[in-house]
Amino acid sequence: MIPYGRQDIRQEDIDAVVEVLRSDYLTQGPAVPRFEAAVAQHCGVEHAIAANSATSALHIACLALDLGPGDWLWTSPITFVASANCGLYCGAQVDFVDIDPRTYNLCPQALERKLAEAQKKGRLPKVVVPVHLCGQPCDMRAIHVLAQRYGFKVVEDASHAIGGKYESAPVGNCRYSDITVFSFHPVKIITTAEGGMAVTNDPKLAERIGLLRSHGITRDPAHMTRESDGPWYYQQIDLGFNYRLTELQAALGLTQLERLDAYVARRHALSLRYDESLAALPLTLPWQHPDGASARHLYVVRLTLDRIAVSHRQVFEALREQGIGVNLHYIPVHTQPYYERLGCVQGRYPEAERYYAEAISLPMYATLTEAQQDMVVEALRHAMA
Ligand SMILES: *Cc1c(COP(=O)(O)O)cnc(C)c1O
Repeated sequence: MIPYGRQDIRQEDIDAVVEVLRSDYLTQGPAVPRFEAAVAQHCGVEHAIAANSATSALHIACLALDLGPGDWLWTSPITFVASANCGLYCGAQVDFVDIDPRTYNLCPQALERKLAEAQKKGRLPKVVVPVHLCGQPCDMRAIHVLAQRYGFKVVEDASHAIGGKYESAPVGNCRYSDITVFSFHPVKIITTAEGGMAVTNDPKLAERIGLLRSHGITRDPAHMTRESDGPWYYQQIDLGFNYRLTELQAALGLTQLERLDAYVARRHALSLRYDESLAALPLTLPWQHPDGASARHLYVVRLTLDRIAVSHRQVFEALREQGIGVNLHYIPVHTQPYYERLGCVQGRYPEAERYYAEAISLPMYATLTEAQQDMVVEALRHAMA
């Protein structure tokens, strides 16, 4: 089976992890700060806080922005459930904004219309989470303008997008957002097994996220509410969690990060090859917005259903039967049973639902070979015939 995505682990990754296993620190040592500094430098951002997953990083990013009961978080319906769940963890309510039919990202025009409506009802969101689907950056400039006008905070879910660029600058520079979050799950661009990172230019947010990552405990006398009892002393000043990344994971992240540019270049080459070999088929191929450069995490095609004699499901099943591990990113979050129980209804985000009826993610990862890619193309041609 050719999977839709997979990690690339090399000898230097293994050596780096083994070196940590033989060192004094398995957690809370020097590797995590080194990994944080390396990611911050890559992004051109001031602060980076590693966490044990992007889900955890999204949770404490929202808490650091004071998202809580009575507040609203808005995101795209075409995302992994974690982009929305982070709002629910904080006790806030979650709502969705339909997607742009070209990029499949949260549509800034739909956002603007929904904000104008919400203002009338006094129900403006406190946090909006744009998701850079497939690694393609959202229209961040437009979202930033709306954030200024309506007074909401922006957390970029860049789980797919490390190595991508927006306006020629790296995703994660937070020029148009308060916080950006990355994921290092094995199917993503680089991996730490499980792992994530929040980056920001705001020192107060960075400090708060760091505190929430580790129980809400500080050892810094400057942050204590009363004087230290002695050298053993620490204070819990907030209700935090244990969301820490281990030293082993950070060591892996560091060696992976060194290959980030090569990975993204390889993904671009593979995307171009797909673009060329699929051009004649009744498909909508990925479209690149001129303001950005996708990290090419996923290669999603949409079937032109009125030009083929088979259904979306039949094409999907035929590909799986031929050993092609296609996937579907994503089931619209508002149609998940849990979200329906919270009052979400189908039919409200027509572009998202149309996308879901047509989309298939083809295999895309740095170690995918040309021969494997040709097999995918042949299998798809066969499945659609
Ligand atoms: C993978 C992913 C997440 C969650 O990442 P984890 O590191 O697995 O917690 C969140 N949002 C999106 C869009 C993702 O693809």
